This record gives sequence, structure tokens and C-alpha cells, in this order.
Amino acid sequence: MKTIEELDVAGRRVFVRADLNVPLDGSSITDDGRIRAVAPTIAKLAERGAKVVVASHLGRPKGAPDPQFSLAPVAARLGEILGRPVAFATDTVGESAKATVAALADGEVTLLENLRFNAGETSKDDAERKAFAEQLAGLADLYVGDGFGAVHRKHASVFDLPALLPHAVGDLIATEVGVLKRLTEDVARPYVVVLGGAKVSDKVGVIENLLQKADRILIGGGMAYTFLKAQGHEVGISLLQEDQIPTVLGYLAEAEERGVEFVLPTDVLVSTDFPDLRTKAPATFSVVAADAIPADQEGLDIGPDSRELFAAKLADAKTVFWNGPMGVFEHPDYAGGTKAVAQALLESDAFSVVGGGDSAAAVRILGFDETKFGHISTGGGASLEYLEGKQLPGLTALEG
Ligand code: ADP
Ligand code: MG
Repeated sequence: MKTIEELDVAGRRVFVRADLNVPLDGSSITDDGRIRAVAPTIAKLAERGAKVVVASHLGRPKGAPDPQFSLAPVAARLGEILGRPVAFATDTVGESAKATVAALADGEVTLLENLRFNAGETSKDDAERKAFAEQLAGLADLYVGDGFGAVHRKHASVFDLPALLPHAVGDLIATEVGVLKRLTEDVARPYVVVLGGAKVSDKVGVIENLLQKADRILIGGGMAYTFLKAQGHEVGISLLQEDQIPTVLGYLAEAEERGVEFVLPTDVLVSTDFPDLRTKAPATFSVVAADAIPADQEGLDIGPDSRELFAAKLADAKTVFWNGPMGVFEHPDYAGGTKAVAQALLESDAFSVVGGGDSAAAVRILGFDETKFGHISTGGGASLEYLEGKQLPGLTALEG
């Protein structure tokens, strides 16, 4: 892979595929970590006299414009971080994009509107994706891939576009991949993995590979309930991936065979109601043993005993990979489990990697100093698939 230093960018239009998919509350950005992470690449290109055309997706619009998912607030924040104006194009490959790009002087930056406002971006149909990539290619002379959080997606701007333009890997992706390499090649032990979050089926696959590498696997968040259910416990109305139970049982058996320790919550916070994440009105919940969840209740965070247990299991770690919050951390009453894990990482002297959009945001929103962690990754699914040993389309496309 070429680095951006190897591209001759002065006076040329450089398309930067970034991952600016930040959490929003209405139109206000609740965590700008992903914008800050890619800003140095953009600044470097602009300083070298490139006309920088930045593009990203945001959320999951359905292939058509949807104001709720506009990147306009991100353009404003990117401009503040860069300390230079960022012209915002109100479409992706239409009149606004063409005019905005044509008006760029050397060293100027524009951000296009959400790539996913075009059905071609995420299409499963190769021809449809390629057609969109060709339109995007019309806006640039060179391509820089730096949207680490999206490299596991075979999308037009990630996979098809780099094939159409001379390309290089951005500094953010280079750093992220370097860190993940450290987790796959001779890791310092004990190597402890903490998994949680909501996207259970996305994450179960990584366990297969981690069973070969990790010494200990702690399971919290929504994923824990599928494990508890597999062990024969009732989980009430908690998140559950019934079809994954056979797989999970297979993992538990293999872990035992290999001497990998699996740690599940021993107690959980349960409620009949999902909390109001907008008003953050105080929640009504109780603490129950993990094997005694009432039928009408939902597990929303790991309990106090589990927090202590998880902290103890992290205390002697030399390497930690953490993906997925331990509970619905967006509500203060259910943030305690996630806080406890973050605190335990700070107290251990492990090289700790926190991966995942929500996990990384949680660490910062809960007030932890991100510089105290080994690495806060901008990619969740991407990090997991890398650790699974999968080929990532957005990395493959940057080779050669
Ligand atoms: P990441 O973005 O870090 O990969 P995910 O997107 O998988 O993480 O999961 C983050 C989400 O998981 C958060 O919005 C959080 O509220 C939710 N979550 C965590 N624990 C639970 C739970 N027990 N039940 C429902 N949702 C949960
Ligand atoms: Mg997420």
C-alpha cells in the first residue's frame, strides 16, 4: 500500500473516504472522536496544496436524501477542528457537489453530503455500485482511503472507487491496522477480551478466532443474554439471539477444552421499561442474579457483583481488547458497568484497545481521558472482522 506521502497531491483533487459517522442528538454531535481522528490526514493533504474532497456516510438512510442523516453539522465541526473553512455540498454527485469541487482552490476542503443518500453506495449489485463509483471518480484525480470504521463494507466509495483512481492509505487506517496487528502477532499475556454491545450476531463470529488467541473472554452487554440462555437460564425480555445458541454452546465447549476462561455476568440490572434516552428521566430497575431474571424484565446493565468480577479479571491483564458497552450506557442509571470496565482498564498496566463507535464514544462521554488508553479505535465491526482474520474489502482495494 502507498502512503499519502507517496502521492503527488499539489493542485490535484484528492477524494478522502473518511468515516464521519458520529453519534448525533438531533443535529448536535455528542462525540466528535471520528472527526478528530481523520482531521490530521485532511490537514496534511490541504497543507500540501491538494483540493480535498471529503466523503462519508452517516447512519443508515435508505438510499435517498433524509435530512435526519445530513452531514451538515459534521462539516461545521470539521471546519472548527481543522481551523479552516469546509465548504459543504448539499448532494454527493449532483450539481452542488460538482460546483463546490470546481470552486476549490489549492489547499481548500469540501465535504460532500451523506454517501448513503445514493442507493449505489451500499448496493449488492456490482454494476449499480460501480456506476455510482464512476460518478464519484468524476469529482477527483486521486483517492485516499481513511475511513477505518467502514473498511469491512463492500461499498462503492470504499471498494469500487479506489480501483478507478490512483490511491493511497490514509494515516488513520495505517495506525489502526498497526495496532490490530499487535493483537494478532505475539501478544503480551494474559490477553483478555471484553465483548458487549447490541449487535450480537455481528460479534459472535469473532469469538471463534479469539478462542485461539485470548486467555480470557468477558461477556457483557446485550450479548450476555444469549450466553445465559444457552446455559439454560431464563432471560426475560432481554436482547436474545435464539439462533446463535448452538454456536454459543460450541464456543463454551471449545473454551473449556482449550483452557480459555469465559466470564459471564453474575448479576444484572433489570427493568420492565427501556429507559428514555432523550430525557434521561430516572429509571426504575432492580438488581437480580443472572440466573433469576423475571420473565417480564429486560437486562440493561451488568450488576455490582459482575462489575467487581470483571475488574478483577482485568487486573492482571497485559493486553486487552474491548468492544461493546456493558449496558445501555446512554442512560446514566445503566452506565455503571461500562464505567467499571473503563476504570479497570485504566488501573491495569495492560496495552488496551477500545474498538467500536459506541464503545469509544462511551469512554469519552463518561468522562475518561482517552489518552490514558493504549488505543481508541474508530472501528467496531471493522476491528472485529480484522481480528476474525477476514479480508476487508476497503483494505484489499488499497493494495497494489
Ligand atoms: P459498538 O458500536 O461499540 O460496536 P454496539 O453498536 O454493538 O457497540 O452496541 C452499542 C449499543 O449497545 C449501545 O447503544 C447500548 O445502549 C447497547 N446495549 C448495551 N447493552 C445492552 C443491553 N443489555 N440491552 C440492550 N442494548 C444494550
Ligand atoms: Mg455501534
